[in-house]
Amino acid sequence: MKEEIKNVLVVNSGSSSLKFTLYRIDGEKRLANGLVERIGSENANMVYRRGDGPKTERGVQARDHAEALQLVCKALTDPDTGVLATLEDVDAIGHRVLHGADLFKEATLVTPESLAGMKSLVPFGPLHMPPNIGGIEACQKIFPGVPNVAVFDTAFHQTMPPCAARYAIPDEYRTKYGIRKYGFHGTSHHFVTLAAAEFLGKPVDEVNLVTCHLGNGSSLAAIKNGKVYDTTMGLTPLAGVVMGTRSGDIDPAVVLELVRKGMTADEIDTLLNKKSGLLGVGGIDSGDMRDMVNAAAAGTETAELALEMWAHRIVQYVGGYFALIGGADAIVFTGGIGENSRPARARILSRLACLGVDFDEEANATKSGPCYLTKPGSKVAAIVMPTDEELMIARETYAIASK
Ligand code: ADP
Repeated sequence: MKEEIKNVLVVNSGSSSLKFTLYRIDGEKRLANGLVERIGSENANMVYRRGDGPKTERGVQARDHAEALQLVCKALTDPDTGVLATLEDVDAIGHRVLHGADLFKEATLVTPESLAGMKSLVPFGPLHMPPNIGGIEACQKIFPGVPNVAVFDTAFHQTMPPCAARYAIPDEYRTKYGIRKYGFHGTSHHFVTLAAAEFLGKPVDEVNLVTCHLGNGSSLAAIKNGKVYDTTMGLTPLAGVVMGTRSGDIDPAVVLELVRKGMTADEIDTLLNKKSGLLGVGGIDSGDMRDMVNAAAAGTETAELALEMWAHRIVQYVGGYFALIGGADAIVFTGGIGENSRPARARILSRLACLGVDFDEEANATKSGPCYLTKPGSKVAAIVMPTDEELMIARETYAIASK
């Protein structure tokens, strides 16, 4: 292992893409980032950006994730456009891993044992875990001797008390099959919790928040004294609020009814994960928030209904979380929608006066994060806090690799 960790590479290896960011830890400087997408197809593509420079994009050949990673290495060490003299300047590598289940309650150094543990969790994320693990194995080959650290999307939520984390079904289903609430987007909720505490000028272990990560996939977390007390996603990322294409919470008996009507598990999976949510209700063949807002403004009633259902469920959870954690210092908005969609935020914040949120419409319409969306003196603050999951992974990787 290196004496000193200077540069940390963050890898997010998904089913058909590999995203990367290289950090200089000192000063948390982003040296380069980008992605290889459509891996395994004829028209694979690579996007690369050095520092804050312009993005470059080109067609590439990447039959698998290992080839994609080789392209990343080439770009990072390219004499003209690269940022490293040699690959040996990569001192540690952090990997985004979807599911840690009960095995990994925090970020973990990759060892033969921990890797075997991750492989045993593939059933918890059959689409994501294999490429996540594949990315780790490819890095082990290309960067021999460099520490790899796995950072789990579920880890930050592992402080939930049993009353929040358990489903009210017999316990044997948890002990036998691991069926319980795990929660996702943990890295993002963790990052914005730290950043919001700093923004509010409070020690993190004294801060109470409702963090709202609103993107295509969305989840909320109730943060009590800096730790997760409850979150909206469950065993899988399907539960909770209405999302771009996911239904969020529904009566579980709906699934049984659909089975009895003859649908297969895979068909119901596709229906609830890919054809529901804003897409399923809005009637405009898109689950994108911008399209939905435009359609509603143009008078499409189904789009308006989709937005109302979306806000209704979020407001319901925000109110519930306030009660569960005994009130909060702030409601934090992050993710593509939370950071950018002013009309979507307004739909939520205009309904929270009862909690002591003095919504500042002017700030919501004009400011960008990090910023307040409430007036000075508001009992409860609402803030926009841009998330940075890659940086959070780099920080955790550094902390573990330099131990
Ligand atoms: P993912 O869950 O895939 O990471 P993102 O966090 O990128 O999703 O969020 C995507 C959502 O954010 C889309 O619904 C999109 O409409 C919305 N969004 C992104 N940028 C903007 C913007 N500038 N204005 C309004 N909405 C935006």
